[in-house]
Amino acid sequence: MTTVHVVGGGLAGSEAAWQLARQGLDVVLHEMRPTRPTPAHKGDGLAELVCSNSLGSDTTGSAPALLKAEMRHLGSVILDAAAEARVPAGAALAVDRDVFSVAVTRRLASLPNLRLSRDEVVCLDGPVVVASGPLTSPDLAAHLQAQLGVDQLHFFDAAAPVVTRESLDMDRLFVASRWDKGEAAYLNAPMNREEYAAFHAALVEAENTVLHLEEEKDVAFFEGCLPVEVLARRGVDTLRYGPMKPVGLTDPRTGRWPYACVQLRQDTVTGDMFNLVGFQTQLKWGDQKRVFSMIPGLAEAEFVRLGVMHRNTYLASPAFLEPTMLRRGRADQAFAGTLIGVEGYTEAAATGLLAGINLGRALRGHAPLVLPTTTMLGALARYVASADPANFQPMNANWGLVDPWPERMRDKSERRRRQGERALSDLSAIVDPITARA
Ligand SMILES: Cc1cc2nc3c(=O)[nH]c(=O)nc-3n(C[C@H](O)[C@H](O)[C@H](O)COP(=O)(O)OP(=O)(O)OC[C@H]3O[C@@H](n4cnc5c(N)ncnc54)[C@H](O)[C@@H]3O)c2cc1C
Repeated sequence: MTTVHVVGGGLAGSEAAWQLARQGLDVVLHEMRPTRPTPAHKGDGLAELVCSNSLGSDTTGSAPALLKAEMRHLGSVILDAAAEARVPAGAALAVDRDVFSVAVTRRLASLPNLRLSRDEVVCLDGPVVVASGPLTSPDLAAHLQAQLGVDQLHFFDAAAPVVTRESLDMDRLFVASRWDKGEAAYLNAPMNREEYAAFHAALVEAENTVLHLEEEKDVAFFEGCLPVEVLARRGVDTLRYGPMKPVGLTDPRTGRWPYACVQLRQDTVTGDMFNLVGFQTQLKWGDQKRVFSMIPGLAEAEFVRLGVMHRNTYLASPAFLEPTMLRRGRADQAFAGTLIGVEGYTEAAATGLLAGINLGRALRGHAPLVLPTTTMLGALARYVASADPANFQPMNANWGLVDPWPERMRDKSERRRRQGERALSDLSAIVDPITARA
């Protein structure tokens, strides 16, 4: 029987390997860690989340929630494992990153036709899904660039710090989710006007890490994941409309929304660690500790992880990719994850899912599926396959990608609800949810 190779045991690769194996194919999942570490991963587990522990909103009517609903319909192993590893996070789906990684690994290990190989792949040979992520090893990146004849693009992405719960001053924090949606899950650090002004000034003046990269003078960030100090430098109030937004967070001690608020989200099932939501940063570590300790409740905070910034590689996929995730003219090669210009854990896994289904179908002699662009995944796949390659930028799931509702409808939440229903009904019409066969 043909052996299919999957390169990269991250979000996309784990999902792709699962989808291939459950179609009965022999699969080898290649993961280079721990032999070859990356600058961002900490361990050797599959599907390691390198920064935030959130897989995004799971509230009906939101774009990320629709993507998840479609993935569940298609039998996502990543979301199945996420359900097991879930931690309280209000309207979002957040997980304990270690429990999550173990849950993914256990599921993959349960398939007798799937084998994990700890090695670095440097060239493509045989049927393959390439899902080597934003930190693809340099040799493989160079090989892909040469083989595909496309540019290697990049942007910079930063991770947020994590603190221990026992080091927090709970008298200064209150527990709530924004607008009281879902369970009261976040620790909230409220600031008054003076505290905010002092914090903002310190953040603006703090020192950046010096990137030892030639692109240092021309650092391009992903707009959706800007370092907190970059946002602060855009204007004194920018943070109050971003990660320090106070709306919908009533402080029980005052009965009012604070002037600004930092949210901390549970990072582990045990609740012993919390991450600073939206506080991805590239500040020097000493300055991170000094400035973030000014946040109410964090004066004595123990930082178990500090923010770091990394260069993310991606390919100009519209130049070579079909919306099936297969390479144009090559039914034996598929690509998925951040490498093809989708941004976010869930988006990476979703494209891995489609790549796995479709490479499997192609190898079994079936036509690959082109998902309807009324679906979030179909629309995302269309984007990475048909955007302008010259100005190609990574993309999250969002409603702007999806076919609009055919009639004018003023009530946005009703429109989103109907678009969501249409997406799942269109998906069901072409895909059997159990076998993912059309
Ligand atoms: C610093 C940083 C912070 C980020 N923060 C967030 C965040 O908060 N939220 C979010 O949604 N996304 C974040 N991202 C983006 C995040 O990386 C992706 O959302 C997600 O991990 C991408 O999944 P993936 O499967 O494409 O890549 P990964 O999950 O990185 O998986 C790729 C795997 O391939 C392996 N690999 C690489 N090269 C080879 C090779 N040659 N041979 C074999 N194996 C190889 C790697 O070791 C890795 O395990 C961040 C990225 C970085 C770098």
